[in-house]
Amino acid sequence: MSLRFDEITAPKPTAESLAAESATILALLDSGERAKAVADWDTMRRATDTWSALVHLRFAQDTTNAEAKAAREYADALAPTATGFEVAIKRRLLDDPDRSAVEALVGAHVLRLWETDITTFDPVIAADLEEESKLSARYTALLASASFEIDGQVLNLSGLAPYAEHADREMRHRAEKLRWEFFAANGEELDAIYDALVKLRHGMALKLGDANFIPLAYRRMRRVDYDAADVARYRDQVAQHVVPLVAKLLEARRAEHGWDKLRYWDEALIDPAGNPKPNGDHDTLVAEAQVMFDRMDPRLSDFYRMMRAGGFLDLKNRPGKAGGGFCTSFPTEGVPFIFANFNGTHHDIGVFTHEMGHAFQCWESRDQNGIDQLWPTMEAAEIHSMGLEFLTHPQMGLLVGEDQADRFRRMHLIGSLAFLPYGVCVDHFQHEVYANPEATPAERHAIWQRLERRYMPWTDYGDLAYPAKGGRWQSKQHIYNSPFYYIDYTLALCCALQFWVKSRHDPKAALDAYVALCALGGSAPFQDLVRSAGLVSPFAEGALAEVVRESEAVLAG
Ligand SMILES: [Zn+2]
Repeated sequence: MSLRFDEITAPKPTAESLAAESATILALLDSGERAKAVADWDTMRRATDTWSALVHLRFAQDTTNAEAKAAREYADALAPTATGFEVAIKRRLLDDPDRSAVEALVGAHVLRLWETDITTFDPVIAADLEEESKLSARYTALLASASFEIDGQVLNLSGLAPYAEHADREMRHRAEKLRWEFFAANGEELDAIYDALVKLRHGMALKLGDANFIPLAYRRMRRVDYDAADVARYRDQVAQHVVPLVAKLLEARRAEHGWDKLRYWDEALIDPAGNPKPNGDHDTLVAEAQVMFDRMDPRLSDFYRMMRAGGFLDLKNRPGKAGGGFCTSFPTEGVPFIFANFNGTHHDIGVFTHEMGHAFQCWESRDQNGIDQLWPTMEAAEIHSMGLEFLTHPQMGLLVGEDQADRFRRMHLIGSLAFLPYGVCVDHFQHEVYANPEATPAERHAIWQRLERRYMPWTDYGDLAYPAKGGRWQSKQHIYNSPFYYIDYTLALCCALQFWVKSRHDPKAALDAYVALCALGGSAPFQDLVRSAGLVSPFAEGALAEVVRESEAVLAG
């Protein structure tokens, strides 16, 4: 079998074709042909998903292509219709008087997911959902309009981002100054958009019978095995165990550099000699990665060889290509695709190993029963990606050069630890915001400031007036566009760091547990998946204790 990306196709659905197919499925169910209905529906959803993935990917590969743009807009407009039909069939299957027969076909976990899905959508909120995506688009467009002149260049926000770790302190400061001037200039609009989003989401929750948006947001994320109280306990663990460690690490860096104070614009420069860079350009990295996976595990090695040979990687930056990095998949074939924009910094390695982790999981779990089990919920999915970032540590010399490998590992570990307090702060902020939907914009800024002092007491904004007054959260697009998603990265990181500890003591066992976890795909809820890999659930006491102990030992040396 040799799969090729350019041979993957899927027919373009229409509202009419979706309606006809759904009617066929419902008719099969009416006539008692449950097994055939479930199987046919799965085939239909896979075809629609492959088509949608292709359309979105082709647009990202060339945003200047008018045809690709029109196709993407068509797909986005069709998506709510497809969701409507899906929900109708889920409802019908959940209402089946012989539930055990349905459960035998799709599994108990999938039924729980569907039960969650159907409570997040009702025609009564259809217009609100449309308004929500319009407000999100307004935020995205506003941030995309940012333009900065620095270093003889004109850059957008993502072009400015690498300056946060520029070796020259003056340059880092200038970049942050420019960045926050943009947010200050647009502060009123940013507050207005968020205020509208919060009130809109609160209204949707009331219409669906919730007291506020928090439980609805949890159901939208398909969180079936933990709640807000569990997440609050996890944040406390981060505050208790990780915050003091990060404070110590930052103080050590301040002393190392001989600075009087460690300012906000110093935080991203982790290595005093400059953050390590990749060993070569795109072609070098792609080739060295093959050696790396060959050394690690035959399953990773074969998979990566297939991805390269089949053209399932698009990692080079080029004009017209959309920014960022992601992994998508074509469920008709069970094969993933990795999209990235290499820019010559260590982020190339981070993005590559991260997206490879997602892709490998997608491939390993391709034979799971039904499309709902191909991917797990987000917090579990990020274990595969962040896990591989750590499991590739021993081979890092191939990607950054042996002389820089230790420095890379150290930078990655410190960066990961420092991310945890920020990540839980973003989450805590949203819980307070949606619990108090009537708060004024000024009160929201005050909430952020108070939480920032709890989780990042070291933060010193110097002369950056806007974040100093509580405005930092407005640069985090997840707060606007993907409410309550951010904690997922920190939950997954807690698990990925546990894989790191394991791999330091028994690399083979850690890798085997990782591959087995990938193969489970989305066949179980988050905590079951975590425990199956021999990891401690982030909600259990002590989940971070060993990670912190090991980190302290490694970083002290
Ligand atoms: Zn990811």
